[in-house]
Amino acid sequence: MSYAIGLECVNCGAKFPLSKMFEGCPKCKNDKFASNLTVIYDYDKIANSLTYEELLKRPTGVWRYIELLPVKSRLNVTSLKEGGTPLIKCENLGKQLGIKELFIKDESRNPTWSFKDRFCSVAISVALDFNAKIVTVSSSGNHGASTAAYSAKAKLKCVIFTMSYAPDSFITFMQAYGARVVPVTSAIGRWILMEKAVRELNWYPINSYTRPMPTGNPYGPEGYKTIAYEIIEELAKKTPAYVIVPFGGGDGLFGIWKGFKEFEKLGFIDNVPSMIAAESSAGGPLTNAIKKGLNYIEPVQVVPSAAFSIATSTCSYQGLKAIKESKGFATTISDEELIEAQLQLATLEGIYAEPSSAASVAAAKKLAEQNIIDKDEVIVCVITSGGLKDQVPIKRKLPQLKAIDPCWNSFLKTVHDILST
Ligand SMILES: *Cc1c(COP(=O)(O)O)cnc(C)c1O
Ligand SMILES: [Zn+2]
Repeated sequence: MSYAIGLECVNCGAKFPLSKMFEGCPKCKNDKFASNLTVIYDYDKIANSLTYEELLKRPTGVWRYIELLPVKSRLNVTSLKEGGTPLIKCENLGKQLGIKELFIKDESRNPTWSFKDRFCSVAISVALDFNAKIVTVSSSGNHGASTAAYSAKAKLKCVIFTMSYAPDSFITFMQAYGARVVPVTSAIGRWILMEKAVRELNWYPINSYTRPMPTGNPYGPEGYKTIAYEIIEELAKKTPAYVIVPFGGGDGLFGIWKGFKEFEKLGFIDNVPSMIAAESSAGGPLTNAIKKGLNYIEPVQVVPSAAFSIATSTCSYQGLKAIKESKGFATTISDEELIEAQLQLATLEGIYAEPSSAASVAAAKKLAEQNIIDKDEVIVCVITSGGLKDQVPIKRKLPQLKAIDPCWNSFLKTVHDILST
């Protein structure tokens, strides 16, 4: 079954047993710095028992790769059939951006319409391994809703700390799955309450509550690895040159990077892509750290933004590490650029993305224009979530509609521009 053998610090390499460690590595932690732990596996054993061809025979989705996931008991696997999302070649958009081979990995097709489902399927399954009774998460929307859905499936209680100013549609979305939603008036305040709930009430945390740098649940990002595995399968083992990921805390980008490295380690591919982080310019802690050449994350100011799911003051060390290791980049995207990319994706390719998740397409556009990425190479943009979740930002860019009387002439007037082109 699972070949997971322990946890390892992403920074100093210290090893720990598979356990309830949610506050990062205790060995190399200091005032400014905290490193994530990540799951390690017995790769020799996996290589001896699993072939690439064998994988292809199994049903698609996150659990196709069960040997590479950290769940001890198969009975605890909690699945809503997440993953197995399509990789879509985007010729219309590619042409517009001057990119020869542009692909979208469309994660909006997951059970709660975001890539968080891959994370939560694994993290909730591990919660059952640990005999957890109450699950908690601090979220502005997608992570909370996904945690609530998987908790419902696993029959676990779920408490979500959120911001009092989260969009209404997201609050309803989280409540609909039966979770207890607790709005808190400050972003940092949520983490302080969550920390106490984990330490004093023994609740199982789905994401991070540590400060100044998030460390988080080391099991969830394992679910994100499967995005990389699927990209390789869909491209028939051709590694893309660049994979661009909307970036908040960095679990997603780190997980996807880890997936490519593992397929390389298992001998399934010969090279790995450069990872590109698309942050919101409303925050941008990763871009700040890279610009300043820091080896830790310095919290930055964050202002309100349409990039509700990714705008953040701080991010994880593992995100920074993945960018450096993969010889990648980070770039920040303004709200204006986001909405433009969101519209282009919908009108040219028929894919309606959440504003935050269009950051990857906006980054591809920007970096191609600046000749930072090679336009003749294969580029994959991950679309992390669907557009129906927050329709307010895009609505501002769409024409106001006016009802007409059922009169043929009024109708012809309304569509005259369509008729004349
Ligand atoms: C959570 C989220 C992200 C960012 O994921 P991280 O792992 O925090 O970097 C990106 N897009 C959407 C839509 C999200 O919900
Ligand atoms: Zn360490």
